[in-house]
Parts: sequence; C-alpha cells; structure tokens
Amino acid sequence: MTFKDLGLSDAILKAVEEKGYTKPSPIQEKAIPHILNGKDILASAQTGTGKTAGFTLPVLNYLVATKHPKYRPLRALVLTPTRELAAQVYENVREYSKYVNIKSAVIFGGVNAKPQIATLKRGVDILVATPGRLLDLHDQKAVSFKRIDVLILDEADRMLDMGFVRDINKIMSFMPVKRQNLMFSATFSKDIKQLAAGILRNPVEVETAPQNSTAKKVTHNVYQVDKGKKTEFTIKLIKDNNWKQVLIFTRTKHGANKLTKKLIQAGISSAAIHGNKSQGARTKALQNFKENSIKVLVATDIAARGLDIPLLPNVINFELPNVPEDYVHRIGRTGRAGAAGEAISLVCSEETEYQNEIEKLLKQKIKTTVVKGFEPTDTAPPKRAATSKKSFGKKKGGSNSGNSNKKRATETTSAQKRKPHFKENKPKPATGRGRSGAPKKKRY
Ligand code: ADP
Ligand code: MG
Repeated sequence: MTFKDLGLSDAILKAVEEKGYTKPSPIQEKAIPHILNGKDILASAQTGTGKTAGFTLPVLNYLVATKHPKYRPLRALVLTPTRELAAQVYENVREYSKYVNIKSAVIFGGVNAKPQIATLKRGVDILVATPGRLLDLHDQKAVSFKRIDVLILDEADRMLDMGFVRDINKIMSFMPVKRQNLMFSATFSKDIKQLAAGILRNPVEVETAPQNSTAKKVTHNVYQVDKGKKTEFTIKLIKDNNWKQVLIFTRTKHGANKLTKKLIQAGISSAAIHGNKSQGARTKALQNFKENSIKVLVATDIAARGLDIPLLPNVINFELPNVPEDYVHRIGRTGRAGAAGEAISLVCSEETEYQNEIEKLLKQKIKTTVVKGFEPTDTAPPKRAATSKKSFGKKKGGSNSGNSNKKRATETTSAQKRKPHFKENKPKPATGRGRSGAPKKKRY
C-alpha cells in the first residue's frame, strides 16, 4: 500500500514524499480512505503512529477538491488540548499543504491575539486551535464557524481530561449540523466513547493497537525510592547512565520547577515545561530539548500528550500519575517509531496503589527494584516529609546526614560502590523493610 493507492492528489503526495515517508502507517492506511469518503471516524492508535497526517492529508485533499474559486471561508477546524500540540499540528498542516492553494493558521492562548485576528481576517481554510482562545475570538466575531465542513478533535481523550467538553459543545453549536467529524485519540476510554456518541454520526471505528497498549519495545521499570530521595536518585540515574535526553514527568508545576532547579544545581542542563510557564518559555524549552541543547525536560502531564519528540530514549516518572491512562501517554514519549525506549518510574510508599492500577491497565506487572543506598524507609500512609536535606549530587562519602531513627532499621548498605545501571537488590513489595546483612558502610 502506498500513499498514492489511498487516493490522495499529486500535490499532496509530493509534500508527503518530501517528508520522507515511504508508506502510510497502519492508522493512516485504515483511516484515510474513510475520511476521503466523508465518513465520521473514531480513531485510536498509540502515540507516535502518525495520526496527524492520518487526518490532515485527507482533509487537505477534500479542501482542495471542493475549494470555492473566490471565497475562503473557514471550512476545517482542528481542536487540540494544548498550545504545543496546536503548534505542532499546524506545522504539519503547513508542510503537507505546501503545494496546494490552502491557507492555514493556528490559534492558542498565552500570546497576543491581534496577529491572530489579522490572520483570520485575511481568510483561512483550515484552522488549528485550542478551545479557549478560539471561543474568545469567536465572541469577538473574529472567526465564524458557519461554513465548517470538517471538525477534527485531536487527542480527544486529553480534551476530556482537561475539561474542554463544554467548550467543544459550545463551539459545535455554532457549526452547521451537517458536517464531517473526526475524533483521534491515543486511548479509548468509556468517557471517550460517550463523548463520541454525542458528536459523531455513524462513525467508523478505526483502531490499530490493542487498547491502551504501550509501545512494544518500551521496557518498564519501577524503582522504589522514598519521596525525599527521589531527586538524588534521579540525578544519580542520569549521571551514572550518562543519559543525554531525558523527559521527566512530575505531578505538579511546583514539583517540576523544584526538580529542574536541583538538576541544574547538579550540573544537568534542564528546563521545565508546564501550564504556568509563558508560551515563549514553553516553546523555547521544547525547542532546546529537541535540539539537544538541554539534557532534561521536566514536564507536567500537560506536555505529555501529542508532543512529537522523536526517538526519545528515556522517560522518567518522578511521580506516578494518579490516572493510570496518563502513564500510557507519558511513556508514549519513548520508544517512538519503533525505537527502543525505557520508562522508569520512581515510586514511594504512598504511590504503590497507583502502580497497582497501572499494572492492571497494562495487564502486566512492572519489574520493581530497590537500589542499594536508596532502600525505602517510609511506610504508607505518608509520614511527615522525609528529613533528608542533603544537597544532592555532591557524592560525599561518609555517613548519612538524614539521621532519623526511623531510617536506621532498614539501612542496609552496599559494601561497594554502585555500578552504573544499578545492580539492584531485589524486587520488593511496598515497604522494602527488613533487610539485613552486609556490614554498614557508606551510603551513596
Ligand atoms: P501521533 O499523533 O499518532 O502521536 P504524529 O502524527 O505526531 O503521531 O507522528 C509521529 C511521527 O511520525 C512524526 O514525526 C511524523 O512526522 C512521523 N510520521 C507520520 N507518518 C509517517 C509515515 N507514514 N512514515 C514515516 N513517518 C511518519
Ligand atoms: Mg497526535
């Protein structure tokens, strides 16, 4: 099967060829013919499988084929949950429409609206947007949805999570009822199906991977580490393994900032990306990361979806997400395009429940390891914050400065220096207690 076999026009094929794609990906092969036939679809495929081209190519094909010679009303709208994703999809739209007379634009919040309004005024065929800013501009009458023929919801599951349903419904209320609706998602949840039922008409369901499956070549590893030791552990992980490009997820924005600061202090170039950062800072962080001018990108889940960071070898969950599907999304950032990847999660006692839920979703147990020198001492439920205030990354020898009595009972230590990649102790259940043996020496 080639792109030509799918029935796309020559001008679009040319752009695809320039991108270097030799054949359609499975989701493209399945979805494109239905979209060209004007069907509504609900498509699910794991991240990194080319969903963007899956909807962009046939929609462009349609727009070209049905273009009015004089007018350029807005006829296709792609909604995405995040600004980064909007920018990325738009970039794709531009590339694929290089050889056709189709105008595209992108709209998202956090930046000046004036240029966006001006662009819309000049006429746009296909618009990529985040819901909030789009509604603002619609209120200001800068954009009309009256001639929309195709609505695309990208990362629909994420839109749901982020509470965009009302915005989406509102936007749709301004559109003609008769239109084509395309929904793309990495996972299929009950909620997604419900949302789909309210939007799509007689949809074709297209799926290419088992539900919620994660890329085959990704290895999963859990390290049991106390909460207060995670930063130190992360630094060690990156340094010992000499990792060059690591994406780290934290649960909170504050946590992302804090970790980033510590990493930088430890000499690891890093930046944080999350919702409180200005758009400029977010774009720059992502760009620097892609270009390898920083080693680590610390992100909240907002950055988890849809970002196209090719061939990312390592993802670390500094904390486990409390929604198990988010785990699938996060680690969708590694092992892309068939490359091998490693997903590491640092799990403290209060997170073991999350791990259980994730394992249930994945239908597999994740290898769980305790590393010498980092044996967990906290027990669930969470105690007061761990006492350890050591400055990390200095690798001082000598005794543990944490000194809490609680710790003593479990402090078995290595007799030797740690090897890279962690000659671990043994898989342990939650508490990691009750080990004894080796004479007490240094901690890491
Ligand atoms: P998804 O939305 O499914 O997560 P993307 O659309 O972001 O995936 O595509 C992931 C990567 O795969 C991008 O770098 C894209 O350029 C590339 N890609 C898309 N289609 C093909 C194809 N047919 N052949 C090779 N690479 C492709
Ligand atoms: Mg995508």
